[in-house]
Amino acid sequence: MARALTILGSTGSVGVSTLQVVQADPNTRVFALSANDNVDLLLQQCEQHNPRYAVVVDEAAAESMQVALRQADLDTELLVGADALDSVAAHVDVDLVMAAIVGGAGLASSMAAVQAGKQLLLANKESLVMSGQLFMDAARDNGATILPIDSEHNAVFQCLPGSLPGNDGSAANTDLDKITLTASGGPFLELPLDQFSAITPEQACKHPRWSMGRKISVDSATMMNKGLELIEASFLFSLPAASIDVLIHPQSIVHSLVHYRDGSVLAQMANPDMRVPIAYGLAYPQRMESGAAALDLTKTGDLQFFEPDLQRFPCLRLGREVAEQGGTAPVILNAANEEAVAAFLEGKIRFSDIALIIEQVLSKTPCEAALSLAIIREVDKLARNLAKELILKD
Ligand code: NDP
Repeated sequence: MARALTILGSTGSVGVSTLQVVQADPNTRVFALSANDNVDLLLQQCEQHNPRYAVVVDEAAAESMQVALRQADLDTELLVGADALDSVAAHVDVDLVMAAIVGGAGLASSMAAVQAGKQLLLANKESLVMSGQLFMDAARDNGATILPIDSEHNAVFQCLPGSLPGNDGSAANTDLDKITLTASGGPFLELPLDQFSAITPEQACKHPRWSMGRKISVDSATMMNKGLELIEASFLFSLPAASIDVLIHPQSIVHSLVHYRDGSVLAQMANPDMRVPIAYGLAYPQRMESGAAALDLTKTGDLQFFEPDLQRFPCLRLGREVAEQGGTAPVILNAANEEAVAAFLEGKIRFSDIALIIEQVLSKTPCEAALSLAIIREVDKLARNLAKELILKD
């Protein structure tokens, strides 16, 4: 019988790619879909995939979704509000959950899936950055399987035979030396530093290799995305920050590398297309068609690799420092980053202010042990409020 899949954030970039892969997969049926407020796309998706539930978080948007579902004469039941995300993630009839909500808004539902012992396809890196060890412990204690969908972590996972993040001690038990996360470097890899303050949201959202949502596009442009990924990798693979390197690889063909003690290095390669890691997660431990174009190494041109410039991309430095610090430092970093990126996208601050605001919030917010979700939520709120104050002053 086909497995039941909930997609949290089905109207986003990863959500849409997931539905494209699922469409060609007879072994998976869509159980629930969710959006914040994009009712038009959610309705189209319901018409096409006929899920049992559709969740709309925004209450005003939910009213129009209710009308639209009735007019379309669909059987799909509408659930409203953030708590409904947790219900469709943990529902007893669900086998697989794709966590593709953007930002800290995805934490509760990703955690609900893990606590219910589901197979979790994890794209929402912010939930792991925020709740790291608690998240991995919850997966282990409840028999959940975490399959990393972020392309770099998916690549590392594919190069670590026999290790399932969180379930078996993962990378710590292998003959691993270190891992290298590759980074495209984003749209401003070559831009002189003195021009960073004039960067517009439209320029920042135009990624040279990947087509993604606006928040992660800005994160890629500041390289905070790689900082968040470094923290994500340290939790997923139980590695200290010192064992995680970052290399710029503008062609985005090698998605990451795993270095072993004997000098062997395994790399995973593919065209930059999120359908590849998504298909891997859906078919695991088998393989399936993803719909992505086959890689032809005679057409990729030179594959380049070089060190990142931490002066021009201070967010990557902050990510590493925070990964080393641990505790609630990643919560503070993530909260400040989300607020600063949102303010940049709304035209309230300059691109170059993003790192400055994060650094100030980090220096002014006390870091403590991340012992419970309550502590994490409290610190998240504190850091967001401070970031908002700094943004207003700017
Ligand atoms: P998008 O911005 O394209 O989509 C975000 C999704 O989350 C949408 O469905 C959106 O609904 C929903 N959403 C937004 N805010 C809320 C909220 N407050 N409550 C509930 N749902 C909400 O993001 P991406 O698909 O680009 O990214 C999703 C996650 O995957 C991020 O964590 C990102 O870092 C990660 N990721 C993305 C990659 C990519 O290629 N895009 C690659 C690797 C990781 P609505 O449409 O109604 O606003």
